[in-house]
Amino acid sequence: MNNEQFRLKKYKPIIGGKVREISQWEKIPADAREAVNVVSLVFPFRTNNYVVRELIDWENIPEDPIYQLTFPQRGMLGEDNFNAIRDLLRAGADKSEVDECVSRIRSELNPHPAGQLSHNVPIYHGTPLEGIQHKYRETVLFFPSRGQTCHAYCSYCFRWPQFIGKTQYKFKAKMSSRIVRYLKSDTGIRDVLMTGGDPMVMNSRGLSSCLEPLLDESLEHLRTIRIGTKSLAYWPYKYVTEPDADEVIRLFEKVVKSGRHLAIMAHFSHPAELKTDIVKEAIRRIRNTGAEIRMQAPLIRHINDKAENWRDLWTEGVRLGMVPYYMFIERDTGAREYFEIPLIRAHQIFTEAYKSVSGLARTVRGPSMSAFPGKVLVSGTAEIAGEKVFVLQFLQARDPDWVGRPFFARFDPSACWFDALRPAFGEDKFFFED
Ligand SMILES: *Cc1c(COP(=O)(O)O)cnc(C)c1O
Ligand code: SF4
Repeated sequence: MNNEQFRLKKYKPIIGGKVREISQWEKIPADAREAVNVVSLVFPFRTNNYVVRELIDWENIPEDPIYQLTFPQRGMLGEDNFNAIRDLLRAGADKSEVDECVSRIRSELNPHPAGQLSHNVPIYHGTPLEGIQHKYRETVLFFPSRGQTCHAYCSYCFRWPQFIGKTQYKFKAKMSSRIVRYLKSDTGIRDVLMTGGDPMVMNSRGLSSCLEPLLDESLEHLRTIRIGTKSLAYWPYKYVTEPDADEVIRLFEKVVKSGRHLAIMAHFSHPAELKTDIVKEAIRRIRNTGAEIRMQAPLIRHINDKAENWRDLWTEGVRLGMVPYYMFIERDTGAREYFEIPLIRAHQIFTEAYKSVSGLARTVRGPSMSAFPGKVLVSGTAEIAGEKVFVLQFLQARDPDWVGRPFFARFDPSACWFDALRPAFGEDKFFFED
């Protein structure tokens, strides 16, 4: 084990203007530095000393995938919007004037894709249950209030509105007795998925206050607890050298001992995130608790848009004992134009990677879109009755009966998201739109 790396154990977030204090700031070309200043006014920007020192290859700026992953890029704003803010900054405009421009731009960026605010929050005894979403029968998402930030922010994050301090964009909750009552009342719920932000920014006490109520005997029907997290990629010290790392590990053991499956849904975007000794040690410690680690990430232009990125991610992940799970399509929000990839290309990248790995890595499914009606898999293309079509199916759906039934959309080489697809064969709607 390389002790030099393990010594970097104090978590130092680098937010907004603080980035100028890092020694690598000077390595960023002047125009890219200006882009960081401008774009970080619209999108949340946060990185940390591990990402900066261990993951980014500073000889490869700005193309380096991990630099693209956490540093704001000029292309994330359209030309007009970028210039509008840049000109205000250059002219030394008032803060209020800049803020107004920033708010206008943000509201144009579809901050709530797939009806998240209005459609997935359950109504319980007449009032909405804050902080949870229940879209698919078996699985409830829980957004712990103290897990609504991340160790670093992904430039492509679809939850970006949560991080910009506007309360109306946030979901959050304590594991309240009301939520526990709701979970008790619906015995069809099998999984609770803690998500965020990143629940693993919480210390062991915060985590325990969310997890322990789920271990109650009255919640026998809960079989699986999942924790969605990017902490393994952004802050693996969480499980190894942080003061409460051992308590976190013991808490995981306790969940496993309760007879439940604990699944760490690890967001890994690029094989570079698996190269350090500390991440390997963190993976080893988590797996020793009996928890399983599954890997998932969206496919993103500039970051992981080559088949070999995924091949290496999955094969290295399997070698370290993890299970490849989902490859997602980038959602239709935020800086989508900079990050998006046509569905046809996404399918090619997926297939090329999938066929180059052994069966143990073919547990992965994708590319999948988390759209309003459900998770839609792009299975491929076909020619049926003389028409070229996309073959699609639901991996998850609001109505479970929709799952697994192939359906067809007109082939469109430029479509990047579900909303751009039209039913094939001259039909005016998809089967689930009735
Ligand atoms: C993806 C997702 C889930 C989990 O789906 P699985 O296929 O079981 O992994 C649950 N709820 C929502 C809203 C989701 O987007
Ligand atoms: S880890 Fe997830 S929630 Fe956090 S910034 Fe990245 S994509 Fe967003």
